[in-house]
Amino acid sequence: MSRLEVRTPSQMQTVVETIYRDMERRISGSPPGVCPVDEALNCLNLCRAQTCGKCAPCRVGLTQLADMLQQVLDGEPDEAIIDRIERTAKVIVSTADCAIGIDAAQLVLTGVRGFREDFEEHVRHHRCLSTLHNPVPCVAMCPAGVDIPGYVALVREGRYADAVRLIRKDNPFPVACAYICEHPCEARCRRKMVDDAINIRGLKRAAVDNAGLVPHPKCAPSTGKTVAVVGGGPGGLTAAYYLALMGHKVTVYEKRKQLGGMMRYGIPAYRFPREKMEAEIRSILSLGIEVKIGVDVGTEVTFDQLRQQYDALYIAIGAHTDKKVGMEGEDARGVISAVDMLRGIGDGILPDFTGKNVVVIGGGNVAMDVTRSAIRLGASKVSCVYRRRQEDMTALAEEVEGAIAEGAEVCSLEAPVRIETNEEGKAVALWTQPQIIGEIDRTTGRPKPDVAEVEERRIPADLIIIAVGQGIHSESFEQGGVKIQRGGAFLAESNTQLPYLEGVFAGGDCVTGPATVIRAIAAGKAAAANIDEYLGFHHEITTDVQVPAPVFKDLKARGRINISERDAMDRKDDFDCIECGYTDEEAFKESGRCLRCDHFGFGNFRGGRIEKW
Ligand SMILES: Cc1cc2nc3c(=O)[nH]c(=O)nc-3n(C[C@H](O)[C@H](O)[C@H](O)COP(=O)(O)OP(=O)(O)OC[C@H]3O[C@@H](n4cnc5c(N)ncnc54)[C@H](O)[C@@H]3O)c2cc1C
Ligand code: SF4
Ligand code: SF4
Repeated sequence: MSRLEVRTPSQMQTVVETIYRDMERRISGSPPGVCPVDEALNCLNLCRAQTCGKCAPCRVGLTQLADMLQQVLDGEPDEAIIDRIERTAKVIVSTADCAIGIDAAQLVLTGVRGFREDFEEHVRHHRCLSTLHNPVPCVAMCPAGVDIPGYVALVREGRYADAVRLIRKDNPFPVACAYICEHPCEARCRRKMVDDAINIRGLKRAAVDNAGLVPHPKCAPSTGKTVAVVGGGPGGLTAAYYLALMGHKVTVYEKRKQLGGMMRYGIPAYRFPREKMEAEIRSILSLGIEVKIGVDVGTEVTFDQLRQQYDALYIAIGAHTDKKVGMEGEDARGVISAVDMLRGIGDGILPDFTGKNVVVIGGGNVAMDVTRSAIRLGASKVSCVYRRRQEDMTALAEEVEGAIAEGAEVCSLEAPVRIETNEEGKAVALWTQPQIIGEIDRTTGRPKPDVAEVEERRIPADLIIIAVGQGIHSESFEQGGVKIQRGGAFLAESNTQLPYLEGVFAGGDCVTGPATVIRAIAAGKAAAANIDEYLGFHHEITTDVQVPAPVFKDLKARGRINISERDAMDRKDDFDCIECGYTDEEAFKESGRCLRCDHFGFGNFRGGRIEKW
């Protein structure tokens, strides 16, 4: 008889692994609007199956919790059950023997505190608040609420111009979003339950690349009202676009030499080609929007003067000041901010980094943009220094991978300590303190770094670029009465109105802090609707595009078609666009994967598509 055997996975274990994989996909595809109590119960049951059951709090307590959650779902008439759930979960959190049981009970505790109204609604009215609003997941996740199943179906039929017209109903920047949107719409795509999310941004790119010139709808008759928009970024131009369509006379004030905001002065051309951006902005302005370029509101013209001159005002000035790390040597020669560097590039001034050893501080998308730009500007070595692990970077994983493929080095778990300068006061090295990864911060879900018991490290540098975030330049608006929150953002309602200043609205990065193009667009759209109401009108934005009926031929699980990129060694020397876009065949196949949740999902029960706003 043998003492030990070589073990191979049993048939049963292989099947269980497949089930786990399917479950992981389902959980990551959980759409917004599902019943949170039901989800909590299912997660708890999964946790129960995973515990060893040796300690009583876990074995007995988790079972009791599961029973009580089931009673809530069954419409238990006694509201006291909600407090009992909370008490039981608290006891398990403080008494279970191991982290597995504690974590399971914490999940219920977080839920009962986070969505108590849903528990109450189940008990009082035997229904779920969330499922009452169960939307089409991708549409709900797109901040501007773009009709995604609609334009995906139009791409499938090769009706690219109609797809662009449909998108423009909610978003006047289909080209910008096709190239650089961070596509939150894909995060909860229901197709994940079958295989993987639809490549929604890729399909938008197929639409804009093939649509040709698409005319805009006609503007409504003039209302005689005037609106000033401060800031010519995506948020300001979106508000201007819809207000112009509604018949108002719009003037955009922009302090820089050119329009586009951070799309021009931040996002590099290798991600969003400049000729595409300029064509899209020209097309928006063709509605008769007046532009005053090179006018700094607050200096050349005051905020109060604009208030007197116009019937309403939209402030969308973005977040353009650089943040400091607060370390010795930060003001030395040879240390620049990401914002300054990208601003110069936006105006066509390309610095020469040939042969330089460049160190970038930061782990977000902006840090990746300066890292990749520095490579293209000829740097001999670019190191990106970040105090957490690479997987904790807030930059998109594909951006980090792209930078590494182009030759960048990521120095993770290194916290910047000071900048060493030479006798001429020029930066020559960055000193860092190595870190060890520690406790998880429950609010962000990211582990925090702690100081490691290792000596400081010296990273030689000819140039140090600081990319740790942007602030908001709010002084001149504050003097005009705009309230500023802690952190510098403007205080505005969710409808973009400043209720304490008659006729003034604000949105985009200057309200949210640095965010994304599509969030600024969504704010601009909300501002346009609410300014229109404020001016005493109720114009509707709609389109006559007919969305094709769903046709299903192939429902087999199949892979998502990714957008291809130019070879890293070829693209790293220029600012030409990295992504290649879909072929007709790819666009046809990928669009065919959409499940049309507008027709088959819950969205259909909740009043179908939103045809106007
Ligand atoms: C490097 C970098 C890369 C990014 N990459 C992406 C990305 O890939 N995808 C994405 O979705 N988002 C990205 N973003 C974020 C995105 O660009 C911004 O969230 C978005 O542009 C914000 O739009 P906005 O209209 O609110 O402000 P902005 O785009 O900042 O526009 C504000 C405008 O107001 C003008 N202005 C400021 N003050 C005044 C004044 N006093 N008078 C007149 N005009 C004024 C500014 O010059 C600017 O043109 C990136 C940002 C940066 C910095
Ligand atoms: S704009 Fe962005 S979030 Fe909205 S549908 Fe397009 S890719 Fe998705
Ligand atoms: S399958 Fe289609 S309609 Fe459904 S969430 Fe995904 S993209 Fe949207």
